[in-house]
Amino acid sequence: MSIIEENIRVRFAPSPTGEPHLGAMRTALFNWLFAKHHNGKFILRIEDTDQTRKQEGSLENILKGLEWMGLDWDEGPQKGGDFGPYTQSERKHFYYKAAKSLLDSGHAYLCDRTPEELKMMREKQIKDGKPPGYDGYSRNRNIEDLEKSRKEGRPIVTRLKVPKNGNREFKDTIRGTISFDLSTIDDFIILKADGMPTYHLANVVDDHLMQISHVLRGEEWISSTPKHILLYEFLGFTPPTYVHLSLLLGKDKTKLSKRHGATSILEYKSSGFFPDALNNYLTLLGWYPGGNQEILSKNEIIKKFNLNGLNDSPAIFDQEKLKWMNGVYMRQSSTEFLTEIFHEELEKILPDTVKRPLNKGLLTKIVPLVRDRLKTTNDLIEYVDFFFLVPTQTDQTIIQKGVTKEETIIILEKTLLILKNPEINQNFVTENIENHLRDLIGTFELKPRQSLGTIRSAVTGKDIAPPLFDTLSILGFEECIKRIENSLEILNNQK
Ligand code: GLU
Repeated sequence: MSIIEENIRVRFAPSPTGEPHLGAMRTALFNWLFAKHHNGKFILRIEDTDQTRKQEGSLENILKGLEWMGLDWDEGPQKGGDFGPYTQSERKHFYYKAAKSLLDSGHAYLCDRTPEELKMMREKQIKDGKPPGYDGYSRNRNIEDLEKSRKEGRPIVTRLKVPKNGNREFKDTIRGTISFDLSTIDDFIILKADGMPTYHLANVVDDHLMQISHVLRGEEWISSTPKHILLYEFLGFTPPTYVHLSLLLGKDKTKLSKRHGATSILEYKSSGFFPDALNNYLTLLGWYPGGNQEILSKNEIIKKFNLNGLNDSPAIFDQEKLKWMNGVYMRQSSTEFLTEIFHEELEKILPDTVKRPLNKGLLTKIVPLVRDRLKTTNDLIEYVDFFFLVPTQTDQTIIQKGVTKEETIIILEKTLLILKNPEINQNFVTENIENHLRDLIGTFELKPRQSLGTIRSAVTGKDIAPPLFDTLSILGFEECIKRIENSLEILNNQK
């Protein structure tokens, strides 16, 4: 497939009816990548014509999600462009004009059936064993009749006159030619009684006016496409190229939902995922870059992205795999970058009792110790809070499995003696601490895991923490002594 680069114009057209979920964001991402690969334009259009489904805060969250993922738009809200406005509720005049031209050419007609009448009609159809659908009641009524109805205050909609028989087909880049039998399509509404267009009319008019070259959207819109094809035909417009993206499913092959993990992109943001890792992972859901490489930078993906790599089988979203990938990004990140991110995170999470600003120098030392163990920045707090907060200890948090209280006290007392030895405390570095403490634990009749675990828990209050000797060295001589003495006091019931 050869594509003339400068003419690529694609759009992401969300409706502000909910959270920016993974499926929609993958659609946005594919559009963005396609535009970037071809030096084209990525347009953001807000499809807000269904006022009843509009949700407070939804638009703001969609914009936040796009911004966080770095999917910047060339034209759209906040940005403007030559084809605006980019919010459908501000474009009613374009839809009226199109509806009027369809009415004038005899491809559309007015209808005054009330929602109650339509409901009764459908109930009767079902009772008679017929498929429910609009019965063409107003198809051949004269306009005076309908104008009279309008004056009487009945709701008036505009419907498209869909040919009763024949087929329409369109070519989908991923799936090939798709053909539809027109007898299965009702005379659908294009302009609602409240004066708003339906999705179908607005979508087609805008894709045409905004000169959209390719429509990359979810597979769920395939059944709407023949309606769009008819509108293009009756309005005398040329349809764009269609690319319907495969569904996103959970591991159990059902529709992606909360059961499979977070579905809103913003939850991934607040759970400590990196946007680049999420972009990388989402890119691989339904698109194959060729080769075995899974970790791809944004620039590599832009370079490789093409429609041939898209496939039509459902893509499976696996949160564990995403976590793994985020861990890879964590390991590949520089200490400076992670220090900044962790600093920001810890500033938010640690209690007010911890002195601010947090010590960045300390964090620079901690990052290399924990980087390989974390999958998300949210895992961080569990590993590192003890560096900033003195742990609250009890016998249970200190004494290790299979070790008696008496043995615990002996281990800690001897550790104190060793650490206080000038040979160590004047050169309180990992290697030196390790050499001396390893000699010490060799004298106990316990497994190293138990003796070292005792020292670890006395100092950190945790069973799992960064490597012990590094931890001791970073905490520093005085802090280690203080914490071990404190633990001993607790064990000796002096606290
Ligand atoms: N507003 C539709 C949505 O919410 C857009 C569908 C399309 O891209 O045509 O997904």
